[in-house]
Amino acid sequence: MISETIDGIVLRCIEETTCADDMQKINVIKVKYLGKNGEITSVLKSIKDATPEERPKIGKLVNDAREKVELALSKRENEIKEQIKKDKLISESLDVTLSKKRTETGGLNPLSIIKNDILDIFIGMGFEVKDGPEIEFEYYNFTALNIPKDHPSRNSSDTFYISDDLLLRTQTSAVQVHVMKTQKPPIRIVCPGKVYRPDDDATHSPMFQQIEGLVIDKRVTLSDLKSILDEFAKSFFSASTKVRFRPSHFPFTEPSVEVDLSCNKCGGAGCNLCKRTGWIELLGAGVVHPNVLIECGLDPNEYKGIAFGIGVERAAMIKFGVHDMRLLFDNDIRILKQFR
Ligand SMILES: [Zn+2]
Repeated sequence: MISETIDGIVLRCIEETTCADDMQKINVIKVKYLGKNGEITSVLKSIKDATPEERPKIGKLVNDAREKVELALSKRENEIKEQIKKDKLISESLDVTLSKKRTETGGLNPLSIIKNDILDIFIGMGFEVKDGPEIEFEYYNFTALNIPKDHPSRNSSDTFYISDDLLLRTQTSAVQVHVMKTQKPPIRIVCPGKVYRPDDDATHSPMFQQIEGLVIDKRVTLSDLKSILDEFAKSFFSASTKVRFRPSHFPFTEPSVEVDLSCNKCGGAGCNLCKRTGWIELLGAGVVHPNVLIECGLDPNEYKGIAFGIGVERAAMIKFGVHDMRLLFDNDIRILKQFR
């Protein structure tokens, strides 16, 4: 009689266990059958009403039933845990084939690219890069560079003055004065930086960048200047680029020259870029004026110098064929992207 009851309980329990699909249901079944007041435990409690002969039989029946139920429960428990693990693996897996959202990355402004290219060429020729202040004393910007008091460039219409003797430097040549006053020759430097003049049109901006070059040594001549600039032009523009000197005048060099390049677009035949002349004006240069050397504490009988000043915007406009400098300053990435 009891054995039939127990068999029924076990069957029911196994059936419920098989249907259970989560750990919560398994726990409910455990309590229902094996708990303190569970069905199988209750059968065991009835042992006290049985005869001494029946007691061991009932005990064995209950133990067997318990074993069967526990086995079924633990088997189902493992299956459920395994399933949970599988579900987790599927839900947490990454689809590496999924294409990612495109993000725009920034790039250097074309003027920075040009500036770096120019500096790289001069560094390759043994030049050292020097920096100087953008707010400068009138002395370093004008006086020490042999620019007389009445020179038009000293006018407030051509220079941004901050006070009577302080201004926004109008040329990176000011840096060469600092270097000559503190460094013993031989000197071979390039000084890149921003300079300021009150001009604003398609080919002029109130702020633009220059790279000043200076060589001071016992024997440097105009022909060294020519070979340095020739090497630069061939590296920066193309191997077939020619350089031409035209006489000019700057207060800080004597003799002074304007340096032209043969037009890369037409090869010298004449086109709209070179205004039909076959040549493009690139920079100003010359042999350092003895007055500048004296002012910087160098004996002009012992030392000679050559200097040149390259406009970064000018070089960029020629190289990229851009006619309006302001395009390089505007933040239109459709234009800027083309020069990366
Ligand atoms: Zn041309």
